[in-house]
Amino acid sequence: MLPDNALCLSIAGTDTDAGKTVVTAALARAAVAAGLRTLIIKPIQTGSIVDAQGKLQAPDIALCREAAPGADTHALLQFATACSPQLAAQLEALDEKPLRAHPLAEEIGKVVREWALATTFCTNAPGPCRNLVLLEGAGGLLTPLSHRETLGELFALLGWPVLLVVANRLGAINHALLSLEALRSRHLPCLGFVMNEVREAQSELERTIRGENPKAVESLGHKPCLAKLPHVPGLNAPEFSAREAAWNGAARALSPVLHAVGTWQGFAPKTTTQEKRSQETVSKETAAQETAAQETAAQETVDQEGVALLRFDREHLWHPYTSPLRPLRAWEAVGSSGARIRLKGGRELVDGMASWWCAIHGYNHPWLMRALQTQAQSMPHLMFGGLTHAPAVRLGQRLLGMAPPALKHVFFADSGSVAVEVALKMALQYGQAKGETRRTQVMTVRGGYHGDTLGAMSVCDPQDGMHALFSGILPKQIFAPRPECRFDAPYNPAAEQAFAKILAAHADLVAAVILEPIVQGAGGMWFYHPAFLRGVHALCKQHGCLLILDEIATGFGRTGKLFACEHADVQPDILCLGKGLSGGVMTLAATLATHEVAEGISQGGGMLMHGSTFMANALACAVSEASLELISGGGWRAEVARLERVLRQGLSPCACLPGVVDVRILGAIGVVEMESEVNVERLQAFFVEQGVWIRPFGRLVYLMPPYIITDDEIATLCTAIHRALTQEAWR
Ligand SMILES: *Cc1c(COP(=O)(O)O)cnc(C)c1O
Repeated sequence: MLPDNALCLSIAGTDTDAGKTVVTAALARAAVAAGLRTLIIKPIQTGSIVDAQGKLQAPDIALCREAAPGADTHALLQFATACSPQLAAQLEALDEKPLRAHPLAEEIGKVVREWALATTFCTNAPGPCRNLVLLEGAGGLLTPLSHRETLGELFALLGWPVLLVVANRLGAINHALLSLEALRSRHLPCLGFVMNEVREAQSELERTIRGENPKAVESLGHKPCLAKLPHVPGLNAPEFSAREAAWNGAARALSPVLHAVGTWQGFAPKTTTQEKRSQETVSKETAAQETAAQETAAQETVDQEGVALLRFDREHLWHPYTSPLRPLRAWEAVGSSGARIRLKGGRELVDGMASWWCAIHGYNHPWLMRALQTQAQSMPHLMFGGLTHAPAVRLGQRLLGMAPPALKHVFFADSGSVAVEVALKMALQYGQAKGETRRTQVMTVRGGYHGDTLGAMSVCDPQDGMHALFSGILPKQIFAPRPECRFDAPYNPAAEQAFAKILAAHADLVAAVILEPIVQGAGGMWFYHPAFLRGVHALCKQHGCLLILDEIATGFGRTGKLFACEHADVQPDILCLGKGLSGGVMTLAATLATHEVAEGISQGGGMLMHGSTFMANALACAVSEASLELISGGGWRAEVARLERVLRQGLSPCACLPGVVDVRILGAIGVVEMESEVNVERLQAFFVEQGVWIRPFGRLVYLMPPYIITDDEIATLCTAIHRALTQEAWR
């Protein structure tokens, strides 16, 4: 979230050497002359020069300093090699971390916030009074940052309007239109473009071409040419006065851009045309007062709309696990990005929940958004009966490529609960098809959670789950005690022995055992010892029942392994996946089975009796494929290891606070267990006040953040928890 006293503009070139730096520098000069406090940010500079002290000096920043001595400047990353940022980072980065758009965007946001805090409102700027931030890109919009992100992704994360600098030479129209398309596909607003004569026109034909270019780009690209910057040879003149004169000329040529920035709708508070007209005719002082009054008025309209929206929500919309008449409070969210949720009114929250654990790559990840948009353009959804499509097939290939190798068949379900239903049906059908008709029950342990549909509910914890409410309807399943053997303590086989006894007593009735491997999620955030899972697996084999592992919460890296069953080196017969599968963008889950299970069900012409309208939805499959592609990159390993370390650091101090009975961390999961139920309503409001999004349940205050969250953001989450517990806000 940016301070509202800063106008932020990204400046992109149609190519390397399009003249971005000259335009940025001249624009900064014009801004400073107009009385704007101005900050120039160069996020990535390649081709930096090593000075006498051995320090890197950014040539673009040096040029900006000469042109606009009154502007502040900031260079974030610098490389000496003059090549693409990706290659420069590969060649020079000592810690071998790839360049990534997300942390860079965060860093830029921080620089702007700190700078804006230290500056005051200006009063004689065109349009509403703000400060100006100019971010000069590197190369063109598709200049690579890494093997999967370009500069466009960084701009998209920032979301600032973009000024396009078009190098006015042969090919200008093509380059300009390609760049505009790159902006459009990232939903980036484009302020307009500047035609920059990178060198003097040498022939009559060249002059003619340049005369026509801006019009062609305006009509084909639907964006205004805000200024033409003629070739300015004086910028390199040896005499200071000649250079000054040249910069003055360039700044003058660009003043229409400054005006466009000041009056651009995206920046201005919502005012009517009439208000705007009156604004233009009044003196500067009253204009400032009017702007403030209009901002208040606009804020009030927003407030009224917001109140009406929340009222309708409260009176008519059902939220999870709430009374329809006395619901818990809900906040209106209007945007998300990375590990942040933006609320109506501008408050920004650091997200500790990954939206119930699914947004593993953070929100609005450009890679996922792009996959979704591309698929939407060709085919959003088709029935899966009798038809198939590449997104489903490619996702299936990826899933089988990363899942335990024994799994060979994929069923796409629309949600985690449905994936569990399908798994249960597979197991029951398998038993029936094999002629073991007495095997009609499922065994599990207490403390589990597998979803909210009837079949899934029947294997949830019988006390904390909803069994009591539905006791007449739910299938009767068989329960063993919760595995008390902690993940981080020496193994105590007592739990396994209790399980063995119960299974032996019912062996011929049990079609399958279903477990969440290692981490019991919504049933209590409990981490149990891998040896227990190994033991249960052996018992299943011994008694001829299938093992279903529900990795809906744990799959795709959450526990530090790609799948939690890898902690125990166990391969299930049936595997349920969901949540992080689509990176939290679309609803999709999958049930994977071994060839033996599929073959068993197919005996005597048998088929799996399940299929739903939205099965293998193409949008969901496309975005999931993109999510798995990110996972295959392997970056999650380091991220989750980092999260485990930082969560441990941040949450351990809670262990000695009154009311806390346990603090446990595994992978990207951090749990603080209290002695009694927490006051969810009070605690949640407290957290929102602290600028974090944490939703506790039962006796648990826990964190399951997106993997891309920064150390500072985790620290913010942990501090908020510590403060809530210290201040007893949970009671
Ligand atoms: C969330 C969850 C489910 C249910 O998934 P939904 O998509 O909410 O239906 C099932 N099992 C486990 C382990 C879960 O965490």
